[in-house]
Amino acid sequence: MHKQNSPIFLGLLLSICTVTAAAEKAEHFSRADLAAATTLRERAFADATAYQLVESLTTEVGPRAAGSPGDKAGVAWALREMQRLGFANVRAVEAIVPHWERGEAEFAVLAPFPQTMPTLALGGSIGTGSEGIDADAVIVRDLAALAALPAGAVKDKIVFFSNRMERTRDGAGYMKAVPVRASGPSAAAALGAVGVVIRSISTSDSRFPHTGTTRYTITAPRIPALAISNPDADALVRQFESGKPVRLRIRSSSRDLPQVRSANVVGEIPGTDRASEIVILGAHLDSWDPGVGALDDGAGVAIMMGVAKLIKELDVKPRRTIRVVLFANEEFGTSGSLAYLAANEAQVANHVLGFEADFGAGPVWRLASRVDPAQLPVVDQIFRALAPLKLVRGNNTALGGADLDALSKRGMPIIEPGLDGTTYFDVHHTANDTLAQVDPKALRQSVAAFAVSVWLGAQYSGSWERVTTDKPPRR
Ligand SMILES: [Zn+2]
Repeated sequence: MHKQNSPIFLGLLLSICTVTAAAEKAEHFSRADLAAATTLRERAFADATAYQLVESLTTEVGPRAAGSPGDKAGVAWALREMQRLGFANVRAVEAIVPHWERGEAEFAVLAPFPQTMPTLALGGSIGTGSEGIDADAVIVRDLAALAALPAGAVKDKIVFFSNRMERTRDGAGYMKAVPVRASGPSAAAALGAVGVVIRSISTSDSRFPHTGTTRYTITAPRIPALAISNPDADALVRQFESGKPVRLRIRSSSRDLPQVRSANVVGEIPGTDRASEIVILGAHLDSWDPGVGALDDGAGVAIMMGVAKLIKELDVKPRRTIRVVLFANEEFGTSGSLAYLAANEAQVANHVLGFEADFGAGPVWRLASRVDPAQLPVVDQIFRALAPLKLVRGNNTALGGADLDALSKRGMPIIEPGLDGTTYFDVHHTANDTLAQVDPKALRQSVAAFAVSVWLGAQYSGSWERVTTDKPPRR
């Protein structure tokens, strides 16, 4: 018998392992904190607060585009609801936002087979003037295909970008497809195009077009840009495939109006022995205008407020301060996030951990992070506390959401309960983003996953280290 197989040695080894595991748990979280995490998880599945919030926001406020009356109403709603839920230090902090007005848009194929199709202007697009623009069209797949065209190929033409977004669970398909929406109009304009039509950044076969921000560069003329749905883009592709010249007509009355005062709405569950350290919970209050912003981002607002409400109801108070920030204008330039950073420049380092919910109404399927690698065992232990939810353990390269991007670039660690985005881009930025898209059960599960993660993040017995590696761009 080999010595290392002796029962005594094995017994010793086992007891060392048990002691080590126990020490590790005791090191990161107290027994009471882990018990409270279980309580939070159980209560989240029985709590209707988040659903009631997204129902109330979408019913009583509706669309909340930056600078619109709905934006203002959203701020008032958030102040009222945070106060009703008993959050501390509830306040609106000014953020100046752009005010772009959509107006109406029209899209028609004039030749070879005339028909009109539903369309939406891309956010920020200029209008066409009341006569609209009639022009011959050129089809390209994406930005690379546009750049590969011979000189003069799109001069005085309307460019149609035909690439279809891929459906993924984690949003990777969106990240790959969205540069066409952001940069396509200016890229085409730089080559002499007079207008742009894109296939919506969408995974749906419905006829709802998807809007979303386009970003004009200062080096190219501004040209109007519209989106059409996937089935209509397919039909337009077939018109091109006929081999006959395609002529399009676009018209839009979009326009820019003067900037408007909006606000980030902030509320807290104050911490105790580490109260100066902030665990920030971000979501955005604004939405695009065609729908009522139920998934984007009413659900995120509801998840974060629901989480804070459940933590507030615990018998024990959090060690670190939990700060819910409902950001103004994420959609059209992240003005709220930038204003928050400007107002908190001296306190960046106090933001010790971030969570963001801006990817629909769940369920949560994965736990990823961007923390100092030495602290991955802490995230592992949070993952173990989430075991009943049967999540996948993600990696440590989470990008997080847009509103906390600036803080995470400055070294704030993030923990990312990943919302399942498989069907998110079926309705994202469409008129169909309504309460009917929110599954109450998935929303409760999401609140449970966030509540456990946020709570343990706030209770961690050590100090959250800053992340020092360079962060890649989100898109
Ligand atoms: Zn969003």
